[in-house]
Amino acid sequence: AHPELRSLLLSRIRDVPDYPQPGVVFKDITPLLADAAAFGALTEALAAVCVRHGADKVVGLEARGFILAAPAAARAGIGFVPVRKAGKLPGTTLTQVYELEYGSAEIEVHQDAFAPGDRVLVIDDVLATGGTAEASLQLIRRAGAEVAGVVVLLELGFLGGRSRIAPALAQAPLEAL
Ligand code: AMP
Repeated sequence: AHPELRSLLLSRIRDVPDYPQPGVVFKDITPLLADAAAFGALTEALAAVCVRHGADKVVGLEARGFILAAPAAARAGIGFVPVRKAGKLPGTTLTQVYELEYGSAEIEVHQDAFAPGDRVLVIDDVLATGGTAEASLQLIRRAGAEVAGVVVLLELGFLGGRSRIAPALAQAPLEAL
């Protein structure tokens, strides 16, 4: 993104220390969402990334990824596909298990969400350890689609998410706005 857009967006993200647990600084995007100019500019920027990567579909990662990805997909004129936590999608799903710091988690996508060879752009608010994004890339490939790239609003570089997802990205780009 342009430096001016980037500083506008960053100025609307609030750091909440020790949430949801001690030692974590939570990146709260609700001030950005509440600011029409900032949210509108972000939506335009994300839609431009969709177009630039020739995406056929946009995936949003539950839950904040939905809020960013859905308007960007509509603006870019392409479809939106939710990747959800296990047990929330009504149709036949593919499930991907991934490791967390303590324990594991599962995400799902509808088996018929993509046409064969669809180019899929993944959008989320924050790339932290990369576990969620990595699992989403595995799901997209298992569903028969191609990964066009991953776009996040913020990358927490000190958590090493970029290197964790590199193999799953293959040659596809990871962009932080
Ligand atoms: P991870 O799988 O570790 O990359 O975590 C990614 C998911 O957790 C994303 O969907 C983020 O929305 C959320 N997340 C992780 N860390 C933070 C943080 N410090 N602030 C806000 N959201 C976070």
